[in-house]
Amino acid sequence: MTFQELNIIPPILEGLKKANYSKPTPIQEQSIPAVLAGRDLLGCAQTGTGKTAAFSVPIIQLLTEANQVKQGSSANKKAKSARAIRSLILSPTRELAIQISDNIKVYSRYTDIRSTAIVGGVSQRVQERALQQGADIVIATPGRLMDLVNQKQIDLSMVEILVLDEADRMLDMGFIHDVKRIIAKMPNKKQTLFFSATMPPEIVKMVQTLLVNPVKVEI
Ligand code: AMP
Repeated sequence: MTFQELNIIPPILEGLKKANYSKPTPIQEQSIPAVLAGRDLLGCAQTGTGKTAAFSVPIIQLLTEANQVKQGSSANKKAKSARAIRSLILSPTRELAIQISDNIKVYSRYTDIRSTAIVGGVSQRVQERALQQGADIVIATPGRLMDLVNQKQIDLSMVEILVLDEADRMLDMGFIHDVKRIIAKMPNKKQTLFFSATMPPEIVKMVQTLLVNPVKVEI
């Protein structure tokens, strides 16, 4: 199986070449077609399996394709700098969020998708500026994101695709209330990709309320 056989578009194939990925990992083979088809996803996978590309590559592709459709219509050029966040990726730690963000920058290098990381411990002003310039994909830790939401610096009302990465760790770290409050700011109708290495009862409950008929992938 190749990325081309998974119907990845040429600009993203270029990015994957830049990353030195010659073929998809098993979780990528399973996840990419499901996400491209618009399905919700429940993944039981550890970091190290290629999970990041499994969710972010199809997200970059879905957002790129939606942009191309919109470019046919009028208003788009002007709206570019102010466009709303379309995909939110929540991660338990700064290190993981930055790692995901760095990977997404490589995969999306030859597309017009813009992404930014919103994490604690660094200047909030710099992050606010990045948001004002427009980001399609935001990769965030729950604490700093909640601060920006409370200060109305970030609008989540247009989010189309939500990723919860390492959901069980977010639960262990006490982020679950922030996560629920963040989700409440988003439209009900969206695509949700949910990853957790373990499935404690609280996570099972979240899965049941958040996911609609999910495709299950396990590695
Ligand atoms: P992840 O599980 O997403 O943290 O990925 C683990 C490591 O595998 C990272 O260094 C990725 O850059 C790398 N990786 C992910 N997918 C592939 C692939 N298809 N081919 C080669 N390396 C990959």
